[in-house]
Amino acid sequence: MIIPKLQPTGATLPVFPRVQSRQAAPPAEQERSGPGERSLVEYDEDRELTRYVWDHYHRFLTKFEWRVGRLIIGRAKAAGSLSHQMAEAINRLWGSVDEPDVAAALADGPEAFRRRVRDRLLSEHPAEVFINRCPRCGCVVRTPGARQCFWCGFDWHG
Ligand SMILES: [Zn+2]
Repeated sequence: MIIPKLQPTGATLPVFPRVQSRQAAPPAEQERSGPGERSLVEYDEDRELTRYVWDHYHRFLTKFEWRVGRLIIGRAKAAGSLSHQMAEAINRLWGSVDEPDVAAALADGPEAFRRRVRDRLLSEHPAEVFINRCPRCGCVVRTPGARQCFWCGFDWHG
């Protein structure tokens, strides 16, 4: 019979991975998070501000900016389309990036173009373009008239 030696002081005992308890399981990712719950989407100031200005102040876009904006959306839809015919139809409908001025506008990528247009609108229409921010967390909220924060759930009705 072998008697195991005592572990010298300071030696670490083997560590076995802990079995996750049922309570510690993360919530299902499919669950929609309502106001007040932590959103699964991380807040990105640059992205949100761009989305907000394009969604709510597109009346200040030039014809060219509008066309390139539609083209970006059309291309994204075509790229995400599972059907080849559908992708081709969308490409025909929204045009191509072959035109030199369009190609130049999109040289740095669609997001850079959208940011440049956003910054132009912000600087040229400061009186009209109202950025609605949550009074608690400071995030850009969904719409100019929103009185509830999509990000932290704060409600400032009344
Ligand atoms: Zn908030």
